[in-house]
Parts: sequence; C-alpha cells; structure tokens
Amino acid sequence: MKRFAHIDALTVDEAVSHLRRYGDGASVIAGGTDLLGKMKERILPRYPEAIVNLKTIPGLDAIGEEGGVLRIGALTRLQDIATHPTIEQHYSALAEAARRTASPNLREMGTLGGNLCQDIRCWYYRSANNRFPCLKKGGGRCYAIDGDNRYHSIFGGTVEEGCYAVHPSDTAPALIALGAAVKTSKRTVEAEDFFAVGVGKTTVLDDDEIVTEIQVPTPPGGTKSAFSKVALRKSIDFAIVNCAARITVSDGKVTAARICLNAVQIKPYRAVAAEESIVGRVANEENAEAAAKAAVSSARPMTHNRYMVQIAKTLVKRTILACK
Ligand SMILES: Cc1cc2nc3c(=O)[nH]c(=O)nc-3n(C[C@H](O)[C@H](O)[C@H](O)COP(=O)(O)OP(=O)(O)OC[C@H]3O[C@@H](n4cnc5c(N)ncnc54)[C@H](O)[C@@H]3O)c2cc1C
Ligand code: SF4
Repeated sequence: MKRFAHIDALTVDEAVSHLRRYGDGASVIAGGTDLLGKMKERILPRYPEAIVNLKTIPGLDAIGEEGGVLRIGALTRLQDIATHPTIEQHYSALAEAARRTASPNLREMGTLGGNLCQDIRCWYYRSANNRFPCLKKGGGRCYAIDGDNRYHSIFGGTVEEGCYAVHPSDTAPALIALGAAVKTSKRTVEAEDFFAVGVGKTTVLDDDEIVTEIQVPTPPGGTKSAFSKVALRKSIDFAIVNCAARITVSDGKVTAARICLNAVQIKPYRAVAAEESIVGRVANEENAEAAAKAAVSSARPMTHNRYMVQIAKTLVKRTILACK
C-alpha cells in the first residue's frame, strides 16, 4: 500500500469537514472489507491521501423502530442485521440478503452503508495496478464488450459511460423492494435513486457526503418480503443474480408489489414490468411465471451471459412465490 493519513472521526460533522479538506483525495472507511482490497490492489483511479474512519463515531450502528419506520445506522454490521429479531420477522428480505452476503467474518466487519457504497466487481476494473484503463476509470474503452463478459449486464450499458459492469450488493435490492430511503449528512434519498454511474462512482454521494442511516417503512398488513440469490459457491460468493420482492395481498389478490433484481446491470434493476404483471392477480405459479417473463422481456444479454437471463427469470418467479 502507498502511504496515507488515517483520521478517526468522532462526529459526522467532523468526518464531513475532513472530507471537505481533502476534496476527492479522501475516502471514508467503515468495515474496510471492500476499500482495503482496492487500495492493496491499487485499482482506484486516484489513490486516497487520507482515510476517514467512521467506526469511531458513536451511535451510527443502532437499530430501532419508531413512528412507522425502521432506522438502521449506516455502520450497523451485516451480521447484526441478519440476526435482528424485528428485521427477521417483518423485513425478511433484508435479513436474508444480509445473511447471504459474503462469509461470517466479512459479515462481522462489513456494514450496511459500506454494502450500499461498495464498488463494482468487473474483473477488468479490479485487475491490479489499473492494468485495464477502462471507461469506468476515465479511460477510452470498455474491455468487457469484446472480452469475457459472462458476469456482466443483461440490460445494456449505462447511457453516457457505456459501462457493462453489474452492481454487486445483496442488500441494495432488498432495500429497494422494501421502499427504503438512505439518509446522508446532507439529504434523504430514496434507495432506488441512490445509485449512480460515473468514473470511480457508484452512488449519488458528493465527495463530502456520508451515509448516516437507512430508513425502512413498516410494511402494511398483509405484506411479505423475500430475497433469493444464485451464486457459483454457497459461501463467500457474489451473486450471479439476486432478487428481492415485497408483495401485499388482500382478499387473495396482490394489491402492491415491488420487485428488484441486482447483479444484472450497473445499478439495481427495479422490475416494474413484473410488478405490473402480478398486481391484481393471485400470486400463484402461473401468474408468478408471467411476471418473471415480463421482468426479462427487455433483457439484452452480451456474448457470454445469456444464461443470466434464465436465472433472473427463475429468481423473480421464486421470490414472488416465497412471499406467499
Ligand atoms: C471475499 C468477499 C466477498 C464478498 N461477498 C459479498 C457478497 O456476497 N455480497 C455483497 O453484497 N458484498 C460482498 N462483498 C463486498 C463488501 O465487502 C461487503 O458488501 C461489505 O458490506 C462492505 O462494507 P464495509 O463496511 O466493509 O465497506 P468499506 O470497505 O469500509 O467501504 C466500501 C465503500 O463504501 C464507502 N463507504 C462505507 N461506508 C460509507 C458511509 N457510511 N458513507 C459513505 N460511504 C461509505 C467507502 O468509502 C468505500 O468506498 C464481499 C467482499 C469480499 C472481500
Ligand atoms: S464493464 Fe465497466 S468496469 Fe468493466 S471494463 Fe467495461 S467500462 Fe470497465
């Protein structure tokens, strides 16, 4: 690793003021399970001069429910989310997503904020010492288009940048399906609008902005949620595709649905066509299959990832049926 300053912040304001001082030369660190790997491999377009530690800020790892909202501090460890009784009972998609993330030791260190803000895993992008200066690093081309794209986007590249990487988070689709919002040091953004694409950027956060809390609305009566994931290995593996759904049923029919796929394009992909297909119908095998078909109707796989379309379709169906 190269040399860098390490600063323990004691308050959110203090963390923000350090970030302002260094501009885009600073990064915050939470569990460090993603950031440290990137620094060791030297894959960042710009190596940070300073690391601002958020773990030293008291109170950012609390979980509480009040006024119809579940509040989860950004520094809450994934393991605490996976095993929290209220989350397991009423927000099952999130508990399951946290439980299926990485391995026990990574869940003990990794935080919810870090899980949302983590970087993409495209193997060209992650290749040590910036071996492939691709579009996402400010370079001139995307190596995945003509290269090995077996784990890349099935819904096209991003509009301006043409990057075909996928977003790797397991908790992001769960939070989007649950209608969550992300509170930062500056504003509150719907989880759905939190993700962005740019050189070295995966969220809408400014350089001097940090995530402080995730807010999840208490689900209305008759609502259930679920999360499913397909990965090559059962433990310690990123999703080939994952899916979360929140379904509300009244008088035997679906009255509201939110379905989100991830690892299928650079941002979590809300499957609106699937939601429209299942609302007003009974959540049975036949209708779940029709919704799943709708979810992938606009898929545009690349040369080596056509198999992901079938996995996405199967996961949408399976996740809808798991909400029964
Ligand atoms: C072997 C391995 C397997 C993994 N498997 C999975 C998996 O199956 N599913 C999955 O989803 N992820 C996986 N991950 C990715 C990642 O480690 C975890 O998602 C973890 O939750 C990241 O959290 P962290 O606190 O360690 O983040 P850090 O590494 O501390 O930070 C990650 C990024 O987020 C930023 N950041 C962190 N907290 C904040 C905040 N509060 N505000 C603003 N920015 C912030 C940091 O600046 C950094 O850019 C895996 C990682 C490894 C190394
Ligand atoms: S998919 Fe994105 S990150 Fe991967 S090589 Fe192409 S531009 Fe770079």
